[in-house]
Amino acid sequence: MKMAFYGTKPYDKIWFEPLSKEYDCEINFIELPCSEQTSHLAKGHDVVCVFVNDHVTAEMINEFHSLGIKAVLLRSAGFNNVDIKAAEGKMPILRVPSYSPESVAEFAAALLLTVNRHTHRAYARTRDFNMNINGFTGRNLFEKTAGIIGTGKIGQAMINICKGFGMKVIAYDPFPNPHLDVQYTSLEELMTEADVISLHCPLTPETTHMINRDTIALMKKDVYLINTSRGALIDTESLIEALLTGKFSGVGLDVYEEEEGVFFEDKSNEIIEDEQLVRLAAFHNVLITSHMGFFTHEAIREIATTTLENAVAVMKGEALINEIKV
Ligand code: NAD
Repeated sequence: MKMAFYGTKPYDKIWFEPLSKEYDCEINFIELPCSEQTSHLAKGHDVVCVFVNDHVTAEMINEFHSLGIKAVLLRSAGFNNVDIKAAEGKMPILRVPSYSPESVAEFAAALLLTVNRHTHRAYARTRDFNMNINGFTGRNLFEKTAGIIGTGKIGQAMINICKGFGMKVIAYDPFPNPHLDVQYTSLEELMTEADVISLHCPLTPETTHMINRDTIALMKKDVYLINTSRGALIDTESLIEALLTGKFSGVGLDVYEEEEGVFFEDKSNEIIEDEQLVRLAAFHNVLITSHMGFFTHEAIREIATTTLENAVAVMKGEALINEIKV
């Protein structure tokens, strides 16, 4: 089996290369992202493997189909970047539906603790032997209200973490889980009541810009907002507007709606043209990380194993348990 592996980073090789032998898979590690300019590189392979910022359009699906590609394998849980409908009847699209939800939930908690207690700024100060703590006042999380949007695998892990802090937890999900020990509310109620809002739902047409001028207006003053799901859940323009009014105590963003082409790359020697990203990064109470919530040993091992198992299932004509259906 030959796999065209797009958007390769050094850590991908570390985890996929040793495993590929076990699964009898020859991986062609391509550093370029998967795009209309690079889709022809899939020629001669059986399957294509992509990541979160590789946009697989209907045109690319058609090209893959004509090249005899048997499946597109996402090494992620989210799949908003692939035209699933266009692939119907042409090739299955498979994902890694669950790989250590705790990795992302723990990272969401890390963002929350960091923006709340300013540890990132304290680190910079103490390295310079500036031991002044002015401006670093935080808030106890104990007995505050956490509002969790999306109570799937990661949302549930985040609920447990918040409970561990002694927080009251409320949640919104259009498909409430009756087995979950959490108080479901309407989205509006959650926006109004929560001291901390953490986003754990997928990006869909319904959830795009769910954090916007109107929903921000419902939020408490001094609220914390954490997004480890997908950037476009938040309307960046509205967020910046509200940050300028001092609405938020802290905002932690592991994802950003225009992250494609910037996140995962070293742009430190380049002029950043995205003015909204530069504006966001300049707020002392905003912490941006580069889509790394998933990045633990446990999660990457799971991603690599499941992706290769997905590939083997395609090649052997076995049941495709991780296929994404329209
Ligand atoms: P999941 O499918 O287990 O759960 C998603 C939940 O969102 C479901 O309960 C679903 O009912 C709910 N939902 C659907 N529409 C909603 C809406 N309109 N409002 C509120 N909730 C809604 O998914 P998961 O594994 O918990 O992952 C959640 C998201 O996290 C993924 O979609 C992905 O975008 C993101 N993610 C990010 C990283 C990272 O590294 N930062 C890693 C993995 C996943």
